[in-house]
Amino acid sequence: MAAIFFDVDGTLVRWSGGYGEIIADAFDRAEVTPADDWLAHYNERFFHHFGEFADDPYHRAFTDLCDEYPVDADPRELADALVAAEFDAVEPVPGVERAVEKLAEDHTLGILTNGIPGVQFGKVEEVGLLDYFDARVASHDPDVEATKPDRDIFEAAKARVDTETYVMVGDDREPDVEGARAHGFETVHVDASIADLRTPDFRTLATLL
Ligand SMILES: [Mg+2]
Repeated sequence: MAAIFFDVDGTLVRWSGGYGEIIADAFDRAEVTPADDWLAHYNERFFHHFGEFADDPYHRAFTDLCDEYPVDADPRELADALVAAEFDAVEPVPGVERAVEKLAEDHTLGILTNGIPGVQFGKVEEVGLLDYFDARVASHDPDVEATKPDRDIFEAAKARVDTETYVMVGDDREPDVEGARAHGFETVHVDASIADLRTPDFRTLATLL
């Protein structure tokens, strides 16, 4: 038995459109028409708070936006609208459902993701896969506060499952592949963005493990 950890964005789930469309949808839900410079300011503030491991960077970034610009909406409403828009826009990466189901027969599956626990696990729940993952590790869990490729998040993952073999499956080379390898994981690199590849080769993965 191995412990197989999956990244979330670009590995288990992907957006049906671009992130710009999702933010636009969030403003739409709050009945606000954003000016051109609002999105850049929101993004800059989001990554600032995210980098500081704030518990709710969405809410904080919208609060900053509403302080800076005449936004006729409540930051809480905007933050909730954005998370709801993210949930509505996720779809499973093609091929992943069968692979996860098959791998779960013989292995312990986990999530190992950079992001807010409720949002990251919520996206996996949206596509109906969350129950397969017994070990759930997110960078912005107060007990973790480390992002891939840092050592501490990989150690937090290992601490959740007692086994000999740890595997990381992910789409981003530096955090998911290089980071995981440096901290004792076998790695599988998947790329859901290649247009002419219908599915990442999850089937091969499920056969090999
Ligand atoms: Mg990813």
